[in-house]
Amino acid sequence: MRLFAELRYVFPFRLRVSKDLNQFLDFRLPYDYDDYLKSHLSQYANMNQKRLKAQYEGFEQGPIRPPSEAYSLLIRVTRNCPWNRCTFCPVYKGSKFSIRPVAHVKQDIDAVYSFIEKFRELEDAFGHINRFELRDAFRHIQPGQIQAFQAALHWYAAGMRSIFLQDANSLIMKPSELLEILRHLKSRFPQADRITSYARSHTVARISDEHLRSMAEAGLNRIHIGLESGSDEVLRRAKKGVDKHTHIKAGVKVKSAGIELSEYVMPGLGGRELSETHALETADALNQINPDFIRLRTLAIPSSVPLFEEYRSGRFEKLTDLMIAQEILLFIENLNGIDSMVVSDHILNLFQEIEGRLPGEKEHMLKPLREFLKMDPQRRCLYQIGRRIGIFTQLSDMENPRRLAKVEKTSRQLGITSDNVDDAVDELMRRFV
Ligand code: SF4
Repeated sequence: MRLFAELRYVFPFRLRVSKDLNQFLDFRLPYDYDDYLKSHLSQYANMNQKRLKAQYEGFEQGPIRPPSEAYSLLIRVTRNCPWNRCTFCPVYKGSKFSIRPVAHVKQDIDAVYSFIEKFRELEDAFGHINRFELRDAFRHIQPGQIQAFQAALHWYAAGMRSIFLQDANSLIMKPSELLEILRHLKSRFPQADRITSYARSHTVARISDEHLRSMAEAGLNRIHIGLESGSDEVLRRAKKGVDKHTHIKAGVKVKSAGIELSEYVMPGLGGRELSETHALETADALNQINPDFIRLRTLAIPSSVPLFEEYRSGRFEKLTDLMIAQEILLFIENLNGIDSMVVSDHILNLFQEIEGRLPGEKEHMLKPLREFLKMDPQRRCLYQIGRRIGIFTQLSDMENPRRLAKVEKTSRQLGITSDNVDDAVDELMRRFV
């Protein structure tokens, strides 16, 4: 029975979830809901009416979460993205935005809670559950409960420490509604020490400091923002719907409220024309915010996003891996006066080893970039391919003769050389989006 297939991997061990899963589902989802509301007031009124009358249709989960929330319980408070215009983003295109009624979100929370309570009843003195007992206990689970059961099981196995609110921007809800949800979560799961959410700078900048502090007091302790760029021109071309000033204002507000801040940066988003501006302006914005985390997620252009047409027509010139390395080097070199943690935890990134706390570990983070830029083209090509097919995660993996031989063989078989490697990389990256 499929439902129980994963139990083999979870019990009796407490945590057997592959760390690599972290890299496949990410996202930073901001939006301009305030503007959206203004220009769609009548639709919003209708939407709100429909929302209040809507029937509960069972436990829901959205399609994505940040890589760092791989072990979190995902609680969906809104559906999709109300902005949905970013030219590089494929996630919610064609899907309608809505805010879920608080009562429905609470029903989801209660469904997970009741499964967790049952798991606890089955625990032995060491906190383990025998998988056969578990299977017997849940033999007659209803089809409508399967999603909640799986979410509860995954979270239970991961230790039940963190919760992530989906989808694109939970802070778009009325603060009173979000507070009600946060308090309900805390009352059901007091052991969870982290509750996080995506948010859009434009929205955060308009929330009062008092409301943000109340959210922090109610348990919201980390916000993920898709900064993408600090350059107004790059943001405008990407239709991000926010400018550098608003990004800085929102970031500072989040930190002042006592909430941890994770800012996502998108290397390559400025294309060749704006690469340098993108690197320098983004570093400057972050120097003014000093977020807790700076996370890199390199641009990929699947055929489903609006940017693809610009790319195909030649209006947007995508950076090669070599250019991306130069851009990231310039970006990190210009991060000054802050103590953020830089993380490169996405599968689309060429270098996973770019990780460290500023300012002390800056040189350590620049080292692989400089090394890559100095490599001869053939060896650099092998690293690019090895990374994109999942054999290398960092430059030092090239020292492993078996791995290197595998990559050489694959490159030969596919006919990839330093002359055509960029096209091959484009194709491979699209598969990850
Ligand atoms: S990146 Fe843009 S379009 Fe995609 S979810 Fe975020 S705000 Fe919406």
